Amino acid sequence: MTQKARQKRPFHVMIIPTLGCPSKCAYCWSSEVGSPVMSIEMVGSIVAWLKDFRSDPVTFTFHGGEPLLAGADFYQKALPLLTYGLQDLEPNFALQTNLWKLTPDLAEILAKYKIPIGSSLDGPQELNDLQRSEGYYERTMRGYELARNHGLQVQFICTFTSHSVQFKEDIFKFFMDNRLTLKLHPALPSLKSYEPDRWALSPEKYGDLLVYLLDKYLENMDQIEVRNINDYARCVLTGRGTVCTFVDCMENTFAVGPDGSIYPCYRYVGMLEYVMGHVRDRPSQEDLIQSAAGVRMQRFKEHVDQECKGCKHIRYCRGGCPYNAIARSDGEIEGVDPHCLAYRRIFEEIADRFDQEMMGSLDMDMGLPVRPKAEKGIRPAIMPLVRKLASN
Ligand code: SF4
Ligand code: SF4
Repeated sequence: MTQKARQKRPFHVMIIPTLGCPSKCAYCWSSEVGSPVMSIEMVGSIVAWLKDFRSDPVTFTFHGGEPLLAGADFYQKALPLLTYGLQDLEPNFALQTNLWKLTPDLAEILAKYKIPIGSSLDGPQELNDLQRSEGYYERTMRGYELARNHGLQVQFICTFTSHSVQFKEDIFKFFMDNRLTLKLHPALPSLKSYEPDRWALSPEKYGDLLVYLLDKYLENMDQIEVRNINDYARCVLTGRGTVCTFVDCMENTFAVGPDGSIYPCYRYVGMLEYVMGHVRDRPSQEDLIQSAAGVRMQRFKEHVDQECKGCKHIRYCRGGCPYNAIARSDGEIEGVDPHCLAYRRIFEEIADRFDQEMMGSLDMDMGLPVRPKAEKGIRPAIMPLVRKLASN
């Protein structure tokens, strides 16, 4: 990052070219049949809007639905428009896709702009296809091969559901054996389903899973990277959040839907009560904050200041994800992110191990007898992870 970027407040604009998706994942809450595809004129309007919006560095993430449904022609025009139209904002790009629609033309243009790809796999083929849809695994792997042949970087997100968490050992082994970085999401209750909780991972189970993954990661650090554990450890060790869930995302994250409506995040796209404005009106940051949806997001921040004020993790956790907290209650702020329980569990686990190991080495330095540790020999040491993060 340049000196200029360091002094500024980078922001994130998610572009949702369509909410359509060719897959039918069982727990999906973010796709919509018959969704329109963003026009290239709309990308021009995004450029016009952002020219005077802020002078901070921007990252654009193409998200969906399935963003590659927009086709090669869209990206061949959109990427230069955004890059050269907004040169002062030093744009970076990312893409979240299931890779089914990747073609050589698309791979070429994505490689030209060095766009890192996030994709999704829930583990071994049978388990993945049960949750995501028949034939998903093969289609995604075909796209993965094509992406790699074009030198594209691909990382997979693994969604753990109430079903797949029973097979956590197999999933971890799958990612490790295939030399894939593991990033995980807990399945959320789907607001678009008749059975919203069917696949959702409960906060208790999510907490157990995170501690399991912490142990497995520490035991196998030379063979796998578990991104979420890195993120949680950075929060505890530096006192700062580095992913959107663990910062106040509301001032620095926006999403633009296929029709040019602006939302607080891709998770709200298509929910009319969360529209903050429209790119054709070129709203200022102040305009967006003062919109009804913007005010609701700010109220969440104030709510966190109250509800979490006794929590020692508030500085970086900030009440977790506002979408998780408010979307299910029709915009009413009734609490913080329900995964609070899981966050606290993993934050405490990391902090506790770190403190114990630090005290142990201090005692040794001072020639004091080493304190008995109930867990000694059971929990893998956390210091190798601390050293790894410090050296990155
Ligand atoms: S609403 Fe949640 S997912 Fe969206 S930017 Fe904020 S923390 Fe991230
Ligand atoms: S861990 Fe829970 S109580 Fe603590 S800041 Fe996060 S959401 Fe709030």
